[in-house]
Amino acid sequence: MIRLQSITLHEIRLPLVEPFETSRSHQEERRILLLEVRDSDGVSCWSECVASEAPNYLPETIDTAWLALGEWIIPCVLGRSFDHPREVLPHLNATIRGHNMAKAAAEMAAWALAAEKTGRSLAKYIGGERKAVATGIAVGIQADTGALVEKVGQCLEEGYQKIKLKIKPGADVEPVRAVSDAFDLNGRLMVDANTAYDDQPIEALRRLDRFGLMMIEQPLGWDDLRRHAELQARLDTPICLDESITTPERARDMIALGSGRIINIKPGRVGGFAASIAIHDLCWKHSIPVWCGGMLESGIGRAYNVALAALPGFTLPGDLSPSCRYWTQDIVQPEWTMSSDGTVHVPLEQPGLGVEVDADRIDNLTVRRETFGQ
Ligand code: MG
Repeated sequence: MIRLQSITLHEIRLPLVEPFETSRSHQEERRILLLEVRDSDGVSCWSECVASEAPNYLPETIDTAWLALGEWIIPCVLGRSFDHPREVLPHLNATIRGHNMAKAAAEMAAWALAAEKTGRSLAKYIGGERKAVATGIAVGIQADTGALVEKVGQCLEEGYQKIKLKIKPGADVEPVRAVSDAFDLNGRLMVDANTAYDDQPIEALRRLDRFGLMMIEQPLGWDDLRRHAELQARLDTPICLDESITTPERARDMIALGSGRIINIKPGRVGGFAASIAIHDLCWKHSIPVWCGGMLESGIGRAYNVALAALPGFTLPGDLSPSCRYWTQDIVQPEWTMSSDGTVHVPLEQPGLGVEVDADRIDNLTVRRETFGQ
């Protein structure tokens, strides 16, 4: 049984090793919302809300998540008993619509607490068995193709098993061609458009078909399924949906409509682990590969993603880069690392998250804090 006795919200500012650019944003440091959750049995754990500073991925932001947690989500779960963490999301959804990333932060903490209380790792608790998960990397839009090729070369040398290029109209065919020509990637190259082709002619994307990409991620509108279905019917390259899949029901609609052939599961986007596992199980039944995307998480969010990616349906490499790729110093010990074969070790035998959270460092980085409950 889980009974949340107190939740403390912390906002930290974690400096990035280098700026991260997509078609929609440019970031030099990451504002991160962390939850420190204590159970009535005295067990505690940390979780992370993956919402960004601006509403440029989905409508939520770190500030809306703070509000939603404090006003509605925490009062809804605090002091209430749950027999199993899978009960948390339906309970939240009964009275609160949307705010999936804020809900996920509380919901996922309940899974970690339950795992910790049974003495099992989070990965094992949810049914994961993999000892290591394959890792790819997202490469932001670079100033020129020379810089891009050099960066991709470094990533391949480090062992990454999948290269994802962020693209936007006017910066797509040339970078993809440059990378394809420079390396023998053999189906390990994909692109992510982050919805940037919403107003573009279909030919803009059909020109990418010749490169035999693993997938084109979310080319059209963030809440669209119908036009993705039309596009998929005319593209050879599989479409992978990210932003559009916000619930298991949306995943079911994607399959029914043919809007895509792959799903990027980010637990924050869908309201946490119960929904992620439901989407995983649905896709498994329909032979749809899934992989775990990244949201520039700290090592805390990464622990949840690594546990999730240990489930059997996660057959494609996730965006699970090691801590040093993004942070000068992470907030967990040991930091997440990647082997030379491009895999991240899953701490299957350690209870809970499998990493120690550096509470002192979090204290030093905290710019805002609020405690609910006792
Ligand atoms: Mg994406």
